[in-house]
Amino acid sequence: MYDLIIIGAGPAGLSAAVYGRRAGLDLLVIEQMPMSGGQVMNTYEVDNYPGLPGIGGFELGQKFKQHADGQGAAFHTGKVVRIGDGGGKKFVELTDGTVFEARALILAGGAEHAKLGVPGEDTFRGQGVSYCATCDGAFFKKRDVAVIGGGDVAVEDAVYLSRFCRKVWLIHRRDSLRAAKSLQEKLFACENVEVVWDSVLLAIEGGDLVEKIRVHNKKEETERELPVEGVFIAVGMHPDTAACKGVVACDEGGWVIAGEDCKTNVPGIFAAGDIRTKEVRQIVTAVADGACAVASAERYLTLL
Ligand code: NAP
Repeated sequence: MYDLIIIGAGPAGLSAAVYGRRAGLDLLVIEQMPMSGGQVMNTYEVDNYPGLPGIGGFELGQKFKQHADGQGAAFHTGKVVRIGDGGGKKFVELTDGTVFEARALILAGGAEHAKLGVPGEDTFRGQGVSYCATCDGAFFKKRDVAVIGGGDVAVEDAVYLSRFCRKVWLIHRRDSLRAAKSLQEKLFACENVEVVWDSVLLAIEGGDLVEKIRVHNKKEETERELPVEGVFIAVGMHPDTAACKGVVACDEGGWVIAGEDCKTNVPGIFAAGDIRTKEVRQIVTAVADGACAVASAERYLTLL
């Protein structure tokens, strides 16, 4: 039986592995993909991780993994389908039936940006299609871009991008925004933002990079092309919490309820990174969670 099992090998899970090993814990990291790193691996360039400006997402993910390897963390590739709580003994079951046991668990499976499923979305991911304006916006200085969505994130993204992009189109499927009024006021004060109401994205097109999008107006039954080089999709996030259902408490959006100490409602089960309820989902906050979750886990294990 391990002291600690960490589910997920993104920035939160790998940071927890480094801190856990340094604390002398016998731990196992379970990663879904053979290549660790989480969402960061799909980011072309990371320009907001302190100390490493402009580092490639793939390179940063690999550095996290190498750091955890260097500390002697053990890894197993597999998809977790179920976790269980037996008090001082927790278990984790994988799709192939393998079961691992530990005295404590850290849930660090992360979250995925919701996708639209339109033609071109996957093809141009990292080549003009992005799910994170704060990560990738700077690559589109003085360019025309589109943001898809009408929530807080889409409106914040549009306002942020308007500061350095030439023109920002905000494409929203209804005739009113879901975003907070204060954000809407900021948006409508931006001279280079144009909202395209009642409209859905049909396709993202181009050559090697994005060149244009096709948009359908549902009320007027018309279609138009917008020449843009960047498409920022902000239509919500999905946490990866199917395996934890019924074991730890989640909010109505499916996020595991945990504060800065990463404690869930179940003693000995902790949640770190994007998977937990939090305001800012960034690499740097996920990495911080890894450390906080291990500190809480250590205290729990000492008292067990
Ligand atoms: P969200 O609030 O769920 O908004 C998602 C937006 O995407 C909605 O406008 C929705 O349209 C649209 N959408 C969803 N599926 C779509 C589809 N298939 N095609 C076209 N449009 C689609 O998600 P979010 O903006 O990512 O925010 C997530 C959470 O974080 C929210 O609770 C938000 O309040 C919070 N947050 C808060 C702040 C802040 O307080 N400053 C900042 C960021 C995020 P409809 O409106 O028609 O449903």
